[in-house]
Amino acid sequence: MGSSAIFNHLHTLLELVRSMDMREMGNGSQQDSSDPFGAFDIDEADLEPLYHQDRLCCPQCRRNHKVFCPRCGIPLGHTPPHVQLPISVDIYRDPRETEGKSTSAHARIIAPDSVTIKVENMVKAPDTSSITKYTDPQRCLLLFPSEDALPLADIEPGSFDKLIVLDGTWKQGKAMAGAIAGQSFQRVSIRSRRTLFWRYQPFGETYLSTIEAVYWFFRDFHDAYSRDPYDGRYDNLLFYFKLQWGLIQDIYSRNPQKQFTSRKLDGESYIRGRARLQNSASPPDTEEAQT
Ligand SMILES: [Zn+2]
Repeated sequence: MGSSAIFNHLHTLLELVRSMDMREMGNGSQQDSSDPFGAFDIDEADLEPLYHQDRLCCPQCRRNHKVFCPRCGIPLGHTPPHVQLPISVDIYRDPRETEGKSTSAHARIIAPDSVTIKVENMVKAPDTSSITKYTDPQRCLLLFPSEDALPLADIEPGSFDKLIVLDGTWKQGKAMAGAIAGQSFQRVSIRSRRTLFWRYQPFGETYLSTIEAVYWFFRDFHDAYSRDPYDGRYDNLLFYFKLQWGLIQDIYSRNPQKQFTSRKLDGESYIRGRARLQNSASPPDTEEAQT
């Protein structure tokens, strides 16, 4: 994984775990409450070896990474599950947001046929950004919270063929959205449900990682436009997200003295022991815990 990717979404992950505690899991069993991803259909057999995988050299940029190269979008030493998405996704990343900090690479690797990442400073130069060059911007959905954003259930299914996601810190995202306010995209929001990760976290629903936002958009897509019950088809979008969560769980359960950074999150109660990992001969990237 990228230089410090494991810890970069620490807050999001902790909030995920916390909100999952409060989440109603359906069958309400004890087992579910110890595995917040238990309700998702994620390829565990493919995921398992990655907890212990050493850093590998990216064949394209020759940098060493654990699990995948976030810059080149290349999985290392494994073949990840693939997810087919019903529409294409363009993710715009602010160049000041380092690639290792973003979960957008997860989407690109898991759904390579549909996801494109564009690194452009649209705040500084919106006129030259490709985001202002779509031939039919009305047929693009911009996923960003705003007063005029509609849930998918209120958007005509045949009225769009692309999703645009702004990837950056909340502050960067706001600046990006402001810079393209004149573009005639349809604005879409993710539906708030009581099972959503962020429902109970204090930062508001905008405090989502990019991969979570993409995932929940497509869950909404299914709920809005399909008559069939949801069958887990998009759940592997959270494949690497689950891995990050597991690695963080492991590091903190081994190092209970380790303090969480800046924000005062009640981390201790959300870290659970993982016997499977504690027996591992190859610890995860503990040096990254220093960042
Ligand atoms: Zn690379």
